[in-house]
Amino acid sequence: MEKKKIKIKPKALTIFKILGVIFCIFLGLFLFYLKQINDITKLGYSKEASKNILFSFKKDYILKIGENKTINRAFESKDYIEDNLDNYRKVKYVNHKDLISNINKALEVGYKPNDINIIFSHGDNESVKRFLKRDKVKYLEEFFIVDYAKLDNYDRYLKYADDTGEDEETTVLCVNLDMDKEDYADAKLVDKFSIDMLVNKHRYLDEKFEPNDLMNIPSEYASEEDLQSSRIAFNAFKKMSEAAKKDGCEIVINSAYRSYQDQVDIGNYYLKWYGQSYVDKYVAKPGYSEHQTGLAYDIGSKKVNIFANSKEYNWMQEHAYEYGFIERFTKRYEKITGFRMEPWHYRYVGKDIAKYIHENNISFEEYYAVYLDK
Ligand SMILES: [Zn+2]
Repeated sequence: MEKKKIKIKPKALTIFKILGVIFCIFLGLFLFYLKQINDITKLGYSKEASKNILFSFKKDYILKIGENKTINRAFESKDYIEDNLDNYRKVKYVNHKDLISNINKALEVGYKPNDINIIFSHGDNESVKRFLKRDKVKYLEEFFIVDYAKLDNYDRYLKYADDTGEDEETTVLCVNLDMDKEDYADAKLVDKFSIDMLVNKHRYLDEKFEPNDLMNIPSEYASEEDLQSSRIAFNAFKKMSEAAKKDGCEIVINSAYRSYQDQVDIGNYYLKWYGQSYVDKYVAKPGYSEHQTGLAYDIGSKKVNIFANSKEYNWMQEHAYEYGFIERFTKRYEKITGFRMEPWHYRYVGKDIAKYIHENNISFEEYYAVYLDK
């Protein structure tokens, strides 16, 4: 028995020793691996990207360039192509779903990283994909020098500029506002109530739309009973009216919220008395009137019949923006708003936007196209 034990012991010991050595080797390799990964992750790369960087033998390259979100995404993506690595580095990161495959495609079409940056900054994942289906555009800067130019509108820009001879900036503005389309043709549905919503001859509300905060206007502020408004707009109007009063001006609301049906009735009324061509020219079609938002008022003076001749009008010109209102349809913007001047028609857009519009002398359409239409 004792002999047997002595015989087995050295064998077991050898096995243990070998296992120990193997274990140490694996532990060493594992620690070495962790250290390698850690060198990469501490630069800002994800675990997954770091692993793929390591196994593609690109660690030295990554250590040289440091953090790069596009490269991080490339190494996380199944679309990674080694030959494109340097180009990935030069493309500014955007959070598009198919970022890497879009870069691959753009390079294939013949774009350089700078062009790709321009393209990616003018559309979302899907519109980039659509844009990359066309042949290479030679002078991307032509329209895309304008910040708010949209990839999807490219053909319309070309046509509009060609038809009208307008410069790039005007072209982008007009096309983004659908001014290259007939009034009411192919209009966009607006379905969310907000103080910066835009409703005009290209953007409409459906029959059921009404403001979220509809309320009855107290009769002392209105020229007739039962007028309704958005509450947020009316609260601002109340403050404005009190301030006007202190300056000896008495403003009153002649018209405020109008439902879709109200606008149908108005159209029919004018049709009966003034005829179709008048209605087409001056009366907004149902769904296309800003009054349906509850944020627009026709304002009058309590003392003078023609508002534009009243001191109340002058007061409004000077102070309305301080309360968040803008004169919506001026002579200057007839072409862009699609409405003849209406000195009595004011729109609540909130103080910040009203101030900007007042100070920069632009229409709400222009403000919308540049700052809100994303
Ligand atoms: Zn009006």
